[in-house]
Amino acid sequence: MPVYDLAVIGGGIAGLGVFECAGRAGLKAVLLERGAPGRATTAVTSGLLHGGLRYLPYDAGTSWLMCREISRLRRERPDLLTRQAFLWPVYRGERLGLGLVSALHDEYDLFAPLRGARLHARLSPGEAVAVLPGLKREGLLGTVAFDEWRVDVPGLVASLARSAVAAGGELLENARVRALSVRAGSVAAATLEDGREIEARTFVNAAGPWAEEVARLAGAATVRLRLRKGVHLVIGGEPPPHGLIFPGPGGRRIGVYPRLAETWVGPTDEPHDGPPDAASVTAREQEDLRRSLSFVLPDLAARPCRGVVGLRPIPHQAGAAFLLSREHHIFDHAAEGLSNFLTVAGGKLTTYRPMGEDVLASVLGKLGRPAPERAAEGEERGLPWSLVRAGGLAASAGLLSYFAVRRAFAGRGREGWSAFTAEER
Ligand SMILES: Cc1cc2nc3c(=O)[nH]c(=O)nc-3n(C[C@H](O)[C@H](O)[C@H](O)COP(=O)(O)OP(=O)(O)OC[C@H]3O[C@@H](n4cnc5c(N)ncnc54)[C@H](O)[C@@H]3O)c2cc1C
Repeated sequence: MPVYDLAVIGGGIAGLGVFECAGRAGLKAVLLERGAPGRATTAVTSGLLHGGLRYLPYDAGTSWLMCREISRLRRERPDLLTRQAFLWPVYRGERLGLGLVSALHDEYDLFAPLRGARLHARLSPGEAVAVLPGLKREGLLGTVAFDEWRVDVPGLVASLARSAVAAGGELLENARVRALSVRAGSVAAATLEDGREIEARTFVNAAGPWAEEVARLAGAATVRLRLRKGVHLVIGGEPPPHGLIFPGPGGRRIGVYPRLAETWVGPTDEPHDGPPDAASVTAREQEDLRRSLSFVLPDLAARPCRGVVGLRPIPHQAGAAFLLSREHHIFDHAAEGLSNFLTVAGGKLTTYRPMGEDVLASVLGKLGRPAPERAAEGEERGLPWSLVRAGGLAASAGLLSYFAVRRAFAGRGREGWSAFTAEER
């Protein structure tokens, strides 16, 4: 066996992103995946490259980064993306009224050119029911239509693996790392379940929800995750023609995501304690999701369904669950006496590339090689990164307040499905 420049542990979207970047930088890399690539958390996402609408009021920087990545992938791999229109209906008595939902979309529209989305429009109740048959009409005050992008996740996984292997990388499936041996202050080798030893100059732990477990194999104790469980319902048969945003269990906004021959509904967002392998879907979670769906699309909710579960590997941070940052974090275990060992956690499917680039920059530093060229940030359309980032929470919240006030005085904005669909990007 050769001594690799880099061994990546975990073949989810995070590990594949690192593996692909390593190939482009000319490193001799190996990816160690305990099952098949992209079959764990990455396989049970909502399958969207989205612009982070949920994070916009408190973390516009992450939203901007997600939109920039959509723009890049649309240029490089348009075959993997499909435009997906979503409806956000607002019913009488809801906490978020039509004015505030519209103001949120006014702010989201700032990023629309960047992510290649059409500007949102408001639909009357009659029009919303006409474009999404089966949508509950009773109590409907109005609906906002907007765009996201559906991604072919298995296609993306295969494409990243292919280009890394074409660049000389080795991908080992069914290669669970069960031990990491440490010699003279660095990780020397990974031992696989079948006893093989993989030697490398640097090691990256990208094991997603299992990252704490894998870090402990080398004696590293600083990786702490705040795992959040996400359950989707999967409903077979013809999907609805458009996606939908609606209040799920506990009032948290969730989505209806049309796929080829099925519809995914969710995800929930609950704490998960205990080992990642113990995560499962309870009958109660499934029933709560089904009941929430029955308020907006009763016919869809009446079909047979199954539940699927995934865990968000969010780096530990204090604070309310709905305010957690989705930025990725790199733990450099040099601080714990392991000079060549890194862990990456957090991030989104949408941000796999910046995650990979950040990790690669640290790996190259450890190998004593020059930093690689980064995806140019200035070439994109939209707000400058520095402006969004610098403002942080204050800018995000301030922008939303501005749009809420402007809405109150400036009225309803763009209206009608034909106005929404006429604008091609
Ligand atoms: C329900 C849900 C919905 C989401 N929806 C979206 C979305 O629509 N859009 C978006 O941008 N983001 C979404 N996300 C966020 C994001 O997609 C995930 O956080 C991300 O896919 C996690 O990828 P990962 O590579 O970190 O983890 P994983 O995909 O879990 O990869 C980790 C890999 O490590 C392997 N592994 C573990 N232990 C070992 C070991 N000892 N040896 C070798 N290999 C090992 C596992 O088999 C696994 O393949 C969603 C997250 C969840 C939970």
